[in-house]
Amino acid sequence: MSSDLLSFGEAQALVAAQAARLKPLGTERVALAAANGRVLAQTLRADRDQPPFSRSTRDGYACRAAEANAHKALTLAGSTGAGHSPSSPLPAESAWEIMTGAPVPAGADAVMMFEHVEASSGRVRLVPPRTIALGENIVARGAQARIGDELLAPGSAIGFAQIALAASCGCPHLQVFLKPRVAILNTGDEIVPVESEPGPAQIRNSSGPMLAALVRDAGGEPWLLPTAPDNTPALEAALKQACEADLILISGGVSAGKFDLVEPVMASLGARFHFTGVRIQPGKPLVFGEVPSTDLNQEEDRTKRQSKNRTKCFGLPGNPVSSAVSFLLFAAPILRALAGYTHRGPRFALARLVEDVKGKSGLTRFLPASCNFAAPPGEFPAARRVERQGSGDLVAMAHSNCFLVLPEDAERLHAGENVRILLL
Ligand code: AMP
Ligand code: MG
Repeated sequence: MSSDLLSFGEAQALVAAQAARLKPLGTERVALAAANGRVLAQTLRADRDQPPFSRSTRDGYACRAAEANAHKALTLAGSTGAGHSPSSPLPAESAWEIMTGAPVPAGADAVMMFEHVEASSGRVRLVPPRTIALGENIVARGAQARIGDELLAPGSAIGFAQIALAASCGCPHLQVFLKPRVAILNTGDEIVPVESEPGPAQIRNSSGPMLAALVRDAGGEPWLLPTAPDNTPALEAALKQACEADLILISGGVSAGKFDLVEPVMASLGARFHFTGVRIQPGKPLVFGEVPSTDLNQEEDRTKRQSKNRTKCFGLPGNPVSSAVSFLLFAAPILRALAGYTHRGPRFALARLVEDVKGKSGLTRFLPASCNFAAPPGEFPAARRVERQGSGDLVAMAHSNCFLVLPEDAERLHAGENVRILLL
């Protein structure tokens, strides 16, 4: 590992610049119901004004506000339910019974709620001292969007709200970006698959399934390769296979130990390195580079390859907490760019510290924490550290819902201070 490590901010800026140069892979058409969690690859435009007619938002009486505010009895001139059009404009000195979602008759400029009106023998009157404002309880035609307006741009995350909007525009299908295929290559002689009974000195592969989940969350399709043992030929063969993917995540083998072979093996395959360490804890030995893409292995002069023939590759520390932090901070933005997202993250917020926490000089620290997001109005959510035993503490991570971010220069942050949190 090289000694000149980047600061957290420098590494973040470098990753953001790399992400900005990436293009999504291609597109496919999916049914609207299958579009949840995908990334929009088309522009969504309004196919008609929204709302398409001036619509009542209440059950009540359409009226002219000026007439209603005079508190005179207005003649009931008609009645319209949702799905029907008023049979005529609103006559003078009249009101029109109307239901939520129905078009208001031409000439009406407000809707009085049933509850605010006294009605008798075909006449209605706004009960004093209540008054009504111009436009009250009406959403005017086109107030939300005009026909042809761009409502969503390519790169938008599709969730429930975007699905509702697409449905309202008459889109039973959407064009979405293809999901990048992300190779996950775990390394380590001690690692056995989850189905296996570990020997006395072995542990189960927890980083692999964890990274697969993180990859899915960031818009990718995980491709879990068999765990590679800590020897150069095996690791080289596994990495060559991984080069078929759109992005490679290697976990383990990036520290300074005798069997930490990832960086030299990447180098032997012709990798270029963006960085080989970041001043963060956990995650310091993190490697970010590019390896020549598939079947470049036979290629004699790999160094002449264009960057489009290269696959971005992260060497993440093997400890699951370190892997998760370094994935969220650095690999997720690259993956989200490949997946087509405009917003690549990571996402930060502010919270109020419940207890003092100690920083670490020279390193930006990320500590598993629990944040109570159900904060009372006007207050920041309260965050507290989850006690943990090192970067392999899966129990602590499973009880966390964010990471506290302690800046490089902070010796101690005090209870009651605001702290930045990394959202999961
Ligand atoms: P390494 O980064 O290879 O030095 O590994 C750091 C620590 O993480 C060691 O204690 C490993 O046993 C552990 N570790 C490595 N890979 C995994 C994995 N896939 N699942 C769980 N723990 C791991
Ligand atoms: Mg290892």
